[in-house]
Amino acid sequence: MAYIQFLGAAGTVTGSKHLINTSGDPSGKNGLQILIDCGLFQGPKDWRERNWRDTPISAAEIDAVILTHAHLDHCGWIPRLVKEGFRGPIYATAPTIDLCGIILPDSGHLQEEDAEFYNKVKKSKHDPALPLYSLEEAQGSLQYFKPVQVGQTTQLSPELSFRLVRAAHILGSCMAEVVLTSGGQARRLLFTGDIGRVLDHKVAPGKVVHSGPTEGETADILVMESTYGNRIHPKEDPLPELATLITVAAKRGGTVVVPAFAIERTQKFVFILKHLMESGQIPGISVFCDSPMAIKAVEIFLKYNEEYTDETRGMIQKYGSPLEWPGFTFASTPEESKKINTVLVPAIIISSSGMATGGRILHHLAQRLPDPKNLVLFIGFQAPGTRGFVIKSKSPEVKIFGDFVPIRAEVAALEQFSDHADPPELLQWLRTFPSRPGTTYLVHGEPEASGQLRDLMNKELGWNVEVAHYLEKIEVK
Ligand SMILES: [Zn+2]
Repeated sequence: MAYIQFLGAAGTVTGSKHLINTSGDPSGKNGLQILIDCGLFQGPKDWRERNWRDTPISAAEIDAVILTHAHLDHCGWIPRLVKEGFRGPIYATAPTIDLCGIILPDSGHLQEEDAEFYNKVKKSKHDPALPLYSLEEAQGSLQYFKPVQVGQTTQLSPELSFRLVRAAHILGSCMAEVVLTSGGQARRLLFTGDIGRVLDHKVAPGKVVHSGPTEGETADILVMESTYGNRIHPKEDPLPELATLITVAAKRGGTVVVPAFAIERTQKFVFILKHLMESGQIPGISVFCDSPMAIKAVEIFLKYNEEYTDETRGMIQKYGSPLEWPGFTFASTPEESKKINTVLVPAIIISSSGMATGGRILHHLAQRLPDPKNLVLFIGFQAPGTRGFVIKSKSPEVKIFGDFVPIRAEVAALEQFSDHADPPELLQWLRTFPSRPGTTYLVHGEPEASGQLRDLMNKELGWNVEVAHYLEKIEVK
């Protein structure tokens, strides 16, 4: 009997990887084996170590990957899958493929840098430390991507077809609807990937892109994310608080350091800064966007503007490309990045990674965290175990490049910029289902978040909801 197996994002928010096996044969020799997403585990070491484990079914036996979106925790294990022998198609939307074209080689580059660092300081128990995959291997994996249109049905075999529908999470993001047919009976599986904010801008004030997840879905089995299962986003407009935080930090001569995902969050944030400066709500201080990836993503962001809200489209029309704004510097080369260290006047530095797990942000944090004049501002989710989580939790110090750096800078966080729906928004979306799914499995959440969302869905909707467990197999009856 066909089954789904949760190979990641079960009990945690990273490493999204769900296997569909159509024959029930665990050797993978019969029927089709499809992966929905193929993400990297990030955060605590015991999860990250799972990036080094083999898949339960050999990579060469996996026939295809359906990718919901271009976040590393959903796509970052693809180069490793290819390295281990996968040669099938990877289906995704055109913007997702373009974004993977920058995010995966960058990830390979970071893996190589990490391995090099551990070899230099001999802090790894593996000798020599090896990258999970190299930049070149990441580039090589891009040849397997195949674009699919949103809404188009793709038949992979007589028994399995799929369709992507809008998830409204980030540019190009979709949910995967899979239909399994056996013995004349069709079973519909819906994998949400990450779910974006609802349509109403008043409910989701930090929302800049997309028009809400596709309504009226149905499923026999729903596999749904639960990142924000136990937290509600603030409903007030974040811009006044943002303006105050930046203005106060600038007045005391401090620099504002913003860890942000290079893709989408950075683009969204520079447009907000531009708007606040143009309307006189913050001083016109220099903005440094320290990420080669963010520069490339700006071009993709401007290319696919059909997915945005009217408000965002209006801003793009009014202000044009951020790469040409005076006072905004996009650092591409390591030399340009290092030059930012010499800036001692008030400025804003935006750099990745968004959870401070790697990348150029680490240099800026190491330099600016010890000074109480500075402000570290989080505008995204910080998974437990990441440096971002440690800093946001107001710890006295954080380990960067093997050393402990004291945290004396002001630390603030604005939750409104989230691209994940919160429980009221999720319920609003689930209520558009014309019928209740047979079972809903919650993935992509910390145990506490998934558990609370399960209880809420039981109570509010009366649905049959379970929290998925790592490596658990679900029979598709
Ligand atoms: Zn995501």
